[in-house]
Amino acid sequence: MQDLQKTLTLQEADEKYLWHSMKGSAPGQANVVFTKGDGAWVTDSDGNRYLDAMSGLWCVNVGYGRQELAEAAYKQLQELAYVPLTQSHIPAIKLAEKLNEWLNDEYVIFFSNSGSEANEAAFKIAGQYHQQTGGHNRYKFVSRYRSYHGNTMGALAATGQSQRKFKYEPLSQGFLHVAPPDIYRNPDDVSTLSSAEEIDRVMTWELSETIAGVIMEPIITGGGILMPPQGYMARVKEICEKHGALLICDEVICGFGRTGKPFGFMNYDVKPDIITMAKGITSGYLPLSATAVKKEIYEAYAGEDTYDRFRHVNTFGGNPAACALALKNLEIYENENLIQRSRDLGEKLLVELQELKEHPYVGDVRGKGLLLGIELVRDKHTKEPLEAEIVTGIITNCKEKGLIIGKNADTVAGFNNILQLAPPLSITDDDFSF
Ligand code: PLP
Repeated sequence: MQDLQKTLTLQEADEKYLWHSMKGSAPGQANVVFTKGDGAWVTDSDGNRYLDAMSGLWCVNVGYGRQELAEAAYKQLQELAYVPLTQSHIPAIKLAEKLNEWLNDEYVIFFSNSGSEANEAAFKIAGQYHQQTGGHNRYKFVSRYRSYHGNTMGALAATGQSQRKFKYEPLSQGFLHVAPPDIYRNPDDVSTLSSAEEIDRVMTWELSETIAGVIMEPIITGGGILMPPQGYMARVKEICEKHGALLICDEVICGFGRTGKPFGFMNYDVKPDIITMAKGITSGYLPLSATAVKKEIYEAYAGEDTYDRFRHVNTFGGNPAACALALKNLEIYENENLIQRSRDLGEKLLVELQELKEHPYVGDVRGKGLLLGIELVRDKHTKEPLEAEIVTGIITNCKEKGLIIGKNADTVAGFNNILQLAPPLSITDDDFSF
């Protein structure tokens, strides 16, 4: 066999053989190849260090280089590497139990491997639940524009970012979209909750009997850190109950302390029917996701008929090593008080970042916990978004200076103007003064 590595540099081999997310085949700027991580810092193959204020992809919540996580996985791999969850194993049982400590003992947990799969499972569970409880026509889900729920056909259909979707359409059917709350651009929503009322109107017009559920992140993350007005989520839950629909909360980013509470919905005094989670469940160290389902819904799957079961086998979902690692990861959140730290540090940062509003291009600064956004505008009165090239330039400049930050996905033409910060919850005070 030819030893290809000997003839190519790492960058050349990367460009030649790896197809990266969000990149095509045109040669572009070389990818940074990362080789090491420690705390909130990552190092590239040239030895440059960067403060990772995006926690990878919003996931490395406990920081890099945690030996105890590596050891938990290693030990489990030696003990018992694989059991399908058509059977059972100890780490999955313990993790499901532990998650219930965080969730007030009200949910049954279905494991998968990614946020997209957790959402797919949620749609199927909700749809089948309605079928088994007499709601035979309930197949539609309401979601919000600008949201992101994953890359698979259902999760992408739920996503409200058309530029990501149109090349792959038609996607799964029955996903309806409404405008998200955006209180910077639509401040009246604070008093009217019009963005929530729109969900009520859509459900009525579509016929309640056809609606299976609503999916929403408590705070829209990748779409631009869009904070709900006070009372929004509670009103959405009321609307769901009025129409007999389930509320699915996508906690893939907002979960595990990101917003300063164990789960994002806990900021808003609601109890979702289904909660999906991934990323922070293992802090990105291994793939794992979960769909937490209210016990009453699970009980609709109790029938004797084989078709009453949830027919959704997942080979790798709930892998023993991933579950063992996740358990240790949850222990770190608890032992190091990281959720409280996210809340406290987030409040402090939000106050400090408000000073940026004096800059002519900074229209809004917002967020909760260590989930923060800075909306850049060309004109503060018209709120015309700052040009995408300038925003990208800021991100590149930051990276050259050793700071990794993010920006929102291109949700609507011209709306690439929101800088995003989501550092590890374990970030230290010293890290900030770099
Ligand atoms: N939901 C939200 C809110 C996300 O941000 C993401 C990914 O970024 C997903 C779902 C999909 O997760 P995954 O990439 O693990 O499939």
